[in-house]
Amino acid sequence: MQKIVAKALELGRAKTSEGHVATYIPELGKVDGSQLGISIHSITGERIALGDTNVRFSIQSISKIFSLAMALELCGPEAVFKNVGMEPSGDPFNSLLKLENTDSSPYNPMINAGAIVVCSYLVPVLPFEAMIETVRKLCMDDDIVIDEKVYQSEMAHISRNRAIAYLLESKGYLVGGVEESLDFYVKMCALSVTSDSLAGMGLLLANDGILPRTGERVLKRETVKTVKTIMLTCGMYDGSGEFAVRVGIPSKSGVGGGLLSVVDQEMGIGIFGPALDAKGNSVAGEYVLEYLSRSLHLHIFDKRRR
Ligand code: GLN
Repeated sequence: MQKIVAKALELGRAKTSEGHVATYIPELGKVDGSQLGISIHSITGERIALGDTNVRFSIQSISKIFSLAMALELCGPEAVFKNVGMEPSGDPFNSLLKLENTDSSPYNPMINAGAIVVCSYLVPVLPFEAMIETVRKLCMDDDIVIDEKVYQSEMAHISRNRAIAYLLESKGYLVGGVEESLDFYVKMCALSVTSDSLAGMGLLLANDGILPRTGERVLKRETVKTVKTIMLTCGMYDGSGEFAVRVGIPSKSGVGGGLLSVVDQEMGIGIFGPALDAKGNSVAGEYVLEYLSRSLHLHIFDKRRR
């Protein structure tokens, strides 16, 4: 497997020049787009880390699965899915079209509108410090902190998300206050992780919510099942359908260039590749995952894996 991952890294590196780092959050525009790191944590204890796996970057939209998981744990699925749906939106992650043009609440918790609703559930029940502590535990990484520069940079360019948040408030979908919910959301997006931290959370999800090293259950089985399903159907924004066909590994991307993927019952994969395609997904990351999926038969419906 090490050899195949090394090959994926080499081929993936050549793809980085086809994408561009995000610039709408100016701090992200300073990141070197040629970086690529691949981390794999398997249930059997194997660890692979190749390329730029020690570089910290902001988690961005991948935080949406952490917020969703904690809201499911603390508020329960019925309360969570009262004000947010489970359907792919087919629109860009920061769109407000359907929110305004339909009577529906946000289509799913992986687009900005849905994630802000989910954060609004957490505001009254979970202080942010406790949330960071939880993310550290889920990723098995004690060094996760808010990247203050990224946080300030996004806060200074927040108009679109603020518009979404106020639209949500006007429709009665928010539980916590509008500015508090937005602040919680932006802080979550600014958490600094490595590809290793993402592989850690991926492994936990692959292992049904149980930390493999200690055997401790940290997420309910039902929570993990829901999170993985929504990653599969909505995790790559409006690229989720094609990604499911080509790669077939439940994944969540972020505009910081991260990708968190779950090969169920087998491994967590974390990738850092900050050059993005037009939809905001890591170009090299997607390439690497497709390569690994084909070479190692990791597609959810590829029975050759077992
Ligand atoms: N903080 C980013 C935003 O709200 C997250 C988006 C993303 O990673 N797709 O725009």
